[in-house]
Amino acid sequence: MVAIPDEELDCLTCGACCREGSDGRILIPEADLVRWRRLGRDDLAEAIVPGHFGEVAFAHRDDGACVHLGTEASVNACSIYEIRGTTCREFERGSRQCREFRRAAGVDPKTAISAKAT
Ligand code: SF4
Ligand code: SF4
Repeated sequence: MVAIPDEELDCLTCGACCREGSDGRILIPEADLVRWRRLGRDDLAEAIVPGHFGEVAFAHRDDGACVHLGTEASVNACSIYEIRGTTCREFERGSRQCREFRRAAGVDPKTAISAKAT
């Protein structure tokens, strides 16, 4: 089975890691809250829940997905992609965890896990 190269993984058609936001897992550093308020996006700074380690995190839907997941064009696209959080930006596309999320979400179930190991 040939793995999908990292550069061909398209986050805006995937969103797998954005579906794991329950229980305050996708943390938001204070700097992001400040940045969003400066941009006039108080709504983003307020769409938060208590997160792990005493921080705040993205609010999530009943299905566990981040509240910002989904656009008119695609249910898998981040609606705030250009100004998304630091945690989102720093999550490594193509990493083992990324591949795990993709496999769990059924995005590329057969090619996912072996990609980094081959
Ligand atoms: S799971 Fe990987 S490819 Fe999918 S949105 Fe997250 S970082 Fe991008
Ligand atoms: S802000 Fe966007 S990239 Fe970050 S978890 Fe939510 S939907 Fe995903």
